[in-house]
Amino acid sequence: MAQYKHLYGPVPSRRLGRSLGVDMVPMKTCCFDCIYCQLGPTTVHTAERKAYVDVDEVLRELEAWLEAGGEADYLTFAGCGEPTLNIDLGDAMARARQLTNIPICLLTNGALLWRKGARDAAMQADLIMPSLDAATEEVFERINHPVKGLALQQVIEGLEETALEFHGEMWLEVMLVEGVNDSNEQLEALARVIRGIAPDQVQINTVVRPAPGTDVKRVDNGTLVRARVIFGPSATVISSAWEHDVPEGAAHSEEEVLALVSYRPCTIEDVSHGLGMHPNEAIKYLTHLIAEGKLDREDREGQTFFKRAQ
Ligand code: SF4
Repeated sequence: MAQYKHLYGPVPSRRLGRSLGVDMVPMKTCCFDCIYCQLGPTTVHTAERKAYVDVDEVLRELEAWLEAGGEADYLTFAGCGEPTLNIDLGDAMARARQLTNIPICLLTNGALLWRKGARDAAMQADLIMPSLDAATEEVFERINHPVKGLALQQVIEGLEETALEFHGEMWLEVMLVEGVNDSNEQLEALARVIRGIAPDQVQINTVVRPAPGTDVKRVDNGTLVRARVIFGPSATVISSAWEHDVPEGAAHSEEEVLALVSYRPCTIEDVSHGLGMHPNEAIKYLTHLIAEGKLDREDREGQTFFKRAQ
Protein backbone atom coordinates (compact mmCIF):
# COMPACT_ATOMS: atom_id res chain seq x y z
CA MET A 1 0.00 0.00 0.00
CA ALA A 2 1.26 3.49 -0.85
CA GLN A 3 2.70 5.48 2.01
CA TYR A 4 1.18 8.90 2.49
CA LYS A 5 2.58 11.73 4.53
CA HIS A 6 -0.65 13.72 4.92
CA LEU A 7 -3.39 11.07 4.63
CA TYR A 8 -4.30 8.35 7.12
CA GLY A 9 -6.94 5.65 7.02
CA PRO A 10 -9.67 5.33 6.06
CA VAL A 11 -10.29 4.65 9.73
CA PRO A 12 -13.65 3.37 11.02
CA SER A 13 -15.40 6.16 12.88
CA ARG A 14 -18.59 5.75 14.89
CA ARG A 15 -19.77 9.16 13.77
CA LEU A 16 -18.53 9.25 10.19
CA GLY A 17 -18.33 5.69 8.92
CA ARG A 18 -15.05 5.22 6.98
CA SER A 19 -13.15 8.42 7.36
CA LEU A 20 -10.00 9.35 5.43
CA GLY A 21 -7.97 11.72 7.60
CA VAL A 22 -6.24 14.65 5.94
CA ASP A 23 -3.55 16.15 8.12
CA MET A 24 -3.11 19.91 7.77
CA VAL A 25 -0.52 20.57 10.52
CA PRO A 26 2.59 18.76 11.76
CA MET A 27 2.51 16.80 15.03
CA LYS A 28 1.51 18.42 17.38
CA THR A 29 0.56 21.94 16.45
CA CYS A 30 -2.42 23.32 18.32
CA CYS A 31 -3.77 26.43 20.01
CA PHE A 32 -4.93 24.17 22.87
CA ASP A 33 -3.16 21.65 25.06
CA CYS A 34 -6.15 19.71 26.35
CA ILE A 35 -5.71 17.60 29.46
CA TYR A 36 -7.35 14.66 27.68
CA CYS A 37 -5.49 14.92 24.35
CA GLN A 38 -4.57 11.48 23.06
CA LEU A 39 -1.80 12.92 20.90
CA GLY A 40 0.24 13.90 23.96
CA PRO A 41 1.47 17.36 24.96
CA THR A 42 1.28 20.20 22.44
CA THR A 43 4.78 20.93 21.16
CA VAL A 44 3.90 23.93 18.97
CA HIS A 45 1.42 25.91 21.07
CA THR A 46 0.32 28.71 18.79
CA ALA A 47 -2.58 30.66 17.34
CA GLU A 48 -0.59 31.78 14.30
CA ARG A 49 -2.26 30.80 11.02
CA LYS A 50 0.26 29.93 8.34
CA ALA A 51 1.14 27.34 5.68
CA TYR A 52 2.22 24.56 8.04
CA VAL A 53 2.13 21.93 5.29
CA ASP A 54 2.39 22.22 1.52
CA VAL A 55 -1.16 22.12 0.24
CA ASP A 56 -0.05 21.05 -3.27
CA GLU A 57 1.60 18.00 -1.71
CA VAL A 58 -1.59 17.20 0.23
CA LEU A 59 -3.68 17.43 -2.95
CA ARG A 60 -1.22 15.30 -4.95
CA GLU A 61 -1.52 12.59 -2.30
CA LEU A 62 -5.30 12.79 -2.36
CA GLU A 63 -5.32 12.56 -6.12
CA ALA A 64 -3.06 9.48 -6.00
CA TRP A 65 -5.25 7.87 -3.36
CA LEU A 66 -8.38 8.43 -5.45
CA GLU A 67 -6.68 7.15 -8.61
CA ALA A 68 -5.72 3.99 -6.70
CA GLY A 69 -9.45 3.38 -6.10
CA GLY A 70 -9.65 4.85 -2.59
CA GLU A 71 -13.15 5.02 -1.11
CA ALA A 72 -14.41 6.62 2.10
CA ASP A 73 -17.61 8.05 3.58
CA TYR A 74 -15.88 11.30 4.55
CA LEU A 75 -12.68 13.20 3.92
CA THR A 76 -11.92 14.51 7.39
CA PHE A 77 -9.62 17.50 7.66
CA ALA A 78 -8.10 17.13 11.10
CA GLY A 79 -4.90 15.42 12.08
CA CYS A 80 -2.05 15.99 14.47
CA GLY A 81 -3.34 19.24 15.89
CA GLU A 82 -5.71 22.03 14.90
CA PRO A 83 -6.42 22.19 11.12
CA THR A 84 -7.74 25.78 11.06
CA LEU A 85 -4.21 26.90 11.95
CA ASN A 86 -3.30 26.12 8.35
CA ILE A 87 -3.94 29.27 6.34
CA ASP A 88 -4.50 27.18 3.18
CA LEU A 89 -7.22 24.99 4.72
CA GLY A 90 -10.08 26.55 2.74
CA ASP A 91 -8.14 26.24 -0.50
CA ALA A 92 -7.31 22.60 0.28
CA MET A 93 -10.94 21.71 0.95
CA ALA A 94 -12.18 23.58 -2.15
CA ARG A 95 -9.63 21.78 -4.33
CA ALA A 96 -10.46 18.41 -2.75
CA ARG A 97 -14.09 19.01 -3.71
CA GLN A 98 -13.01 19.38 -7.36
CA LEU A 99 -11.42 15.93 -7.17
CA THR A 100 -14.19 13.88 -5.55
CA ASN A 101 -17.81 13.76 -4.41
CA ILE A 102 -16.85 12.35 -1.01
CA PRO A 103 -18.31 14.74 1.59
CA ILE A 104 -15.86 16.88 3.52
CA CYS A 105 -15.78 17.08 7.30
CA LEU A 106 -13.80 19.59 9.35
CA LEU A 107 -12.82 18.35 12.80
CA THR A 108 -11.76 21.41 14.80
CA ASN A 109 -11.44 22.68 18.34
CA GLY A 110 -13.37 25.73 17.10
CA ALA A 111 -11.00 28.10 18.86
CA LEU A 112 -10.12 30.22 15.83
CA LEU A 113 -13.53 30.51 14.18
CA TRP A 114 -13.91 34.05 15.50
CA ARG A 115 -11.31 34.98 12.88
CA LYS A 116 -12.87 35.58 9.52
CA GLY A 117 -10.14 33.70 7.64
CA ALA A 118 -10.61 30.52 9.66
CA ARG A 119 -14.41 30.84 9.47
CA ASP A 120 -14.34 31.34 5.69
CA ALA A 121 -12.19 28.21 5.39
CA ALA A 122 -14.66 26.23 7.52
CA MET A 123 -17.47 27.19 5.12
CA GLN A 124 -15.87 24.90 2.51
CA ALA A 125 -16.85 21.81 4.54
CA ASP A 126 -20.11 19.86 4.36
CA LEU A 127 -19.97 19.02 8.05
CA ILE A 128 -18.22 20.95 10.82
CA MET A 129 -17.46 19.11 14.04
CA PRO A 130 -16.17 21.63 16.57
CA SER A 131 -15.69 20.96 20.26
CA LEU A 132 -16.55 23.02 23.32
CA ASP A 133 -15.76 21.77 26.82
CA ALA A 134 -16.15 24.86 28.98
CA ALA A 135 -18.60 27.63 29.72
CA THR A 136 -16.37 29.60 32.08
CA GLU A 137 -12.89 31.02 31.59
CA GLU A 138 -11.66 29.09 34.64
CA VAL A 139 -12.73 25.69 33.29
CA PHE A 140 -11.52 26.68 29.80
CA GLU A 141 -8.03 27.29 31.19
CA ARG A 142 -8.11 24.09 33.20
CA ILE A 143 -9.33 21.69 30.53
CA ASN A 144 -8.06 23.19 27.24
CA HIS A 145 -4.95 25.19 28.24
CA PRO A 146 -5.46 27.71 25.40
CA VAL A 147 -2.62 29.85 24.05
CA LYS A 148 -2.10 33.06 25.96
CA GLY A 149 -4.57 35.77 24.98
CA LEU A 150 -7.27 33.45 23.64
CA ALA A 151 -10.48 34.09 25.59
CA LEU A 152 -13.42 31.70 25.85
CA GLN A 153 -15.85 34.47 24.94
CA GLN A 154 -14.10 34.89 21.57
CA VAL A 155 -14.34 31.15 20.95
CA ILE A 156 -18.06 31.12 21.77
CA GLU A 157 -18.72 34.11 19.51
CA GLY A 158 -16.83 32.38 16.70
CA LEU A 159 -18.95 29.26 17.09
CA GLU A 160 -22.17 31.32 17.12
CA GLU A 161 -21.10 33.22 14.00
CA THR A 162 -20.10 30.02 12.21
CA ALA A 163 -23.42 28.34 12.99
CA LEU A 164 -25.24 31.37 11.59
CA GLU A 165 -23.23 31.54 8.36
CA PHE A 166 -22.85 27.83 7.66
CA HIS A 167 -25.35 26.01 5.45
CA GLY A 168 -24.15 22.47 6.23
CA GLU A 169 -24.45 20.48 9.44
CA MET A 170 -22.69 21.39 12.66
CA TRP A 171 -22.20 18.73 15.34
CA LEU A 172 -20.75 20.14 18.53
CA GLU A 173 -18.81 17.73 20.74
CA VAL A 174 -18.51 18.22 24.51
CA MET A 175 -15.85 16.18 26.28
CA LEU A 176 -16.65 15.62 29.95
CA VAL A 177 -13.90 15.05 32.50
CA GLU A 178 -14.62 13.98 36.06
CA GLY A 179 -14.25 16.78 38.58
CA VAL A 180 -13.58 19.42 35.90
CA ASN A 181 -16.71 20.18 33.87
CA ASP A 182 -19.25 17.61 35.13
CA SER A 183 -21.08 19.47 37.93
CA ASN A 184 -24.72 20.47 37.43
CA GLU A 185 -23.60 24.10 37.55
CA GLN A 186 -21.06 23.61 34.74
CA LEU A 187 -23.43 21.49 32.64
CA GLU A 188 -26.21 24.05 32.95
CA ALA A 189 -23.80 26.86 32.02
CA LEU A 190 -22.68 24.81 28.99
CA ALA A 191 -26.33 24.21 28.06
CA ARG A 192 -26.95 27.99 28.03
CA VAL A 193 -23.92 28.57 25.78
CA ILE A 194 -24.93 25.70 23.49
CA ARG A 195 -28.44 27.13 23.12
CA GLY A 196 -26.84 30.36 21.87
CA ILE A 197 -24.79 28.45 19.28
CA ALA A 198 -27.69 26.19 18.27
CA PRO A 199 -25.72 23.40 16.54
CA ASP A 200 -27.63 20.68 14.68
CA GLN A 201 -26.42 18.10 17.20
CA VAL A 202 -24.62 18.06 20.53
CA GLN A 203 -22.46 14.99 21.01
CA ILE A 204 -21.49 14.17 24.59
CA ASN A 205 -18.28 12.27 25.08
CA THR A 206 -15.93 11.37 27.87
CA VAL A 207 -12.34 10.29 28.15
CA VAL A 208 -12.00 6.63 27.23
CA ARG A 209 -8.24 6.21 27.12
CA PRO A 210 -6.62 8.90 29.26
CA ALA A 211 -3.23 10.03 27.99
CA PRO A 212 -0.38 8.16 29.71
CA GLY A 213 0.91 9.80 32.87
CA THR A 214 -2.25 11.82 33.53
CA ASP A 215 -4.92 11.33 36.16
CA VAL A 216 -7.72 12.55 33.91
CA LYS A 217 -10.81 10.46 34.56
CA ARG A 218 -13.90 9.64 32.53
CA VAL A 219 -17.28 10.54 33.97
CA ASP A 220 -19.68 7.75 34.88
CA ASN A 221 -22.75 6.78 32.88
CA GLY A 222 -25.07 8.66 35.26
CA THR A 223 -23.24 11.89 34.46
CA LEU A 224 -23.47 11.24 30.71
CA VAL A 225 -27.24 10.83 30.89
CA ARG A 226 -27.55 13.83 33.23
CA ALA A 227 -25.69 15.92 30.65
CA ARG A 228 -27.99 14.55 27.95
CA VAL A 229 -31.06 15.70 29.89
CA ILE A 230 -29.58 19.11 30.70
CA PHE A 231 -28.41 19.76 27.11
CA GLY A 232 -31.83 18.88 25.69
CA PRO A 233 -33.23 17.00 22.72
CA SER A 234 -30.44 17.79 20.23
CA ALA A 235 -27.92 16.03 22.50
CA THR A 236 -26.79 12.45 22.27
CA VAL A 237 -24.15 10.42 24.07
CA ILE A 238 -21.37 9.15 21.81
CA SER A 239 -18.97 7.69 24.38
CA SER A 240 -17.96 4.19 23.26
CA ALA A 241 -17.45 3.10 26.89
CA TRP A 242 -21.05 4.00 27.62
CA GLU A 243 -22.39 2.23 24.53
CA HIS A 244 -20.67 -1.00 25.58
CA ASP A 245 -22.07 -0.83 29.11
CA VAL A 246 -25.67 -0.51 28.06
CA PRO A 247 -27.84 -3.48 27.09
CA GLU A 248 -29.67 -3.09 23.82
CA GLY A 249 -33.41 -3.58 24.17
CA ALA A 250 -36.51 -3.84 22.11
CA ALA A 251 -38.78 -0.83 21.64
CA HIS A 252 -40.82 0.07 24.71
CA SER A 253 -43.84 2.18 24.99
CA GLU A 254 -44.26 5.37 26.92
CA GLU A 255 -46.86 3.58 29.06
CA GLU A 256 -44.22 1.20 30.37
CA VAL A 257 -41.93 4.09 31.25
CA LEU A 258 -44.82 5.89 32.95
CA ALA A 259 -45.77 2.74 34.85
CA LEU A 260 -42.24 2.21 36.11
CA VAL A 261 -41.74 5.83 37.15
CA SER A 262 -45.18 5.86 38.83
CA TYR A 263 -44.08 2.91 40.92
CA ARG A 264 -41.06 4.82 42.30
CA PRO A 265 -39.00 7.85 41.27
CA CYS A 266 -36.31 6.73 38.82
CA THR A 267 -33.11 8.00 37.29
CA ILE A 268 -32.55 7.60 33.55
CA GLU A 269 -30.28 4.66 34.32
CA ASP A 270 -33.05 3.03 36.40
CA VAL A 271 -35.43 3.32 33.43
CA SER A 272 -32.79 2.10 30.98
CA HIS A 273 -31.85 -0.94 33.04
CA GLY A 274 -35.35 -1.56 34.40
CA LEU A 275 -36.88 -1.77 30.94
CA GLY A 276 -33.78 -2.98 29.08
CA MET A 277 -33.78 0.00 26.73
CA HIS A 278 -31.03 2.24 25.49
CA PRO A 279 -30.61 5.39 27.63
CA ASN A 280 -31.23 7.59 24.60
CA GLU A 281 -34.57 5.87 24.17
CA ALA A 282 -35.37 6.29 27.88
CA ILE A 283 -34.49 9.98 27.64
CA LYS A 284 -36.72 10.41 24.60
CA TYR A 285 -39.73 9.03 26.47
CA LEU A 286 -38.96 10.88 29.70
CA THR A 287 -38.53 14.18 27.84
CA HIS A 288 -41.83 13.64 26.06
CA LEU A 289 -43.67 12.69 29.26
CA ILE A 290 -42.34 15.84 30.97
CA ALA A 291 -43.49 17.96 28.02
CA GLU A 292 -46.94 16.38 28.36
CA GLY A 293 -46.99 17.29 32.05
CA LYS A 294 -47.15 13.66 33.16
CA LEU A 295 -43.77 13.61 34.90
CA ASP A 296 -41.79 15.94 37.12
CA ARG A 297 -38.02 16.21 37.42
CA GLU A 298 -36.32 16.42 40.80
CA ASP A 299 -32.60 16.88 41.53
CA ARG A 300 -31.39 15.40 44.80
CA GLU A 301 -28.19 13.91 46.16
CA GLY A 302 -26.44 14.82 42.92
CA GLN A 303 -28.84 12.79 40.78
CA THR A 304 -31.84 13.57 38.61
CA PHE A 305 -35.02 11.61 39.42
CA PHE A 306 -38.23 11.43 37.44
CA LYS A 307 -41.53 10.93 39.23
CA ARG A 308 -45.21 10.98 38.39
CA ALA A 309 -46.59 14.53 38.30
CA GLN A 310 -48.99 15.28 41.18
S1 SF4 B 1 -7.73 20.59 20.50
FE1 SF4 B 1 -7.53 18.45 19.87
S2 SF4 B 1 -5.41 18.26 19.15
FE2 SF4 B 1 -5.53 20.17 20.28
S3 SF4 B 1 -4.87 19.62 22.34
FE3 SF4 B 1 -7.10 19.49 22.31
S4 SF4 B 1 -7.57 17.35 21.83
FE4 SF4 B 1 -5.40 17.70 21.30
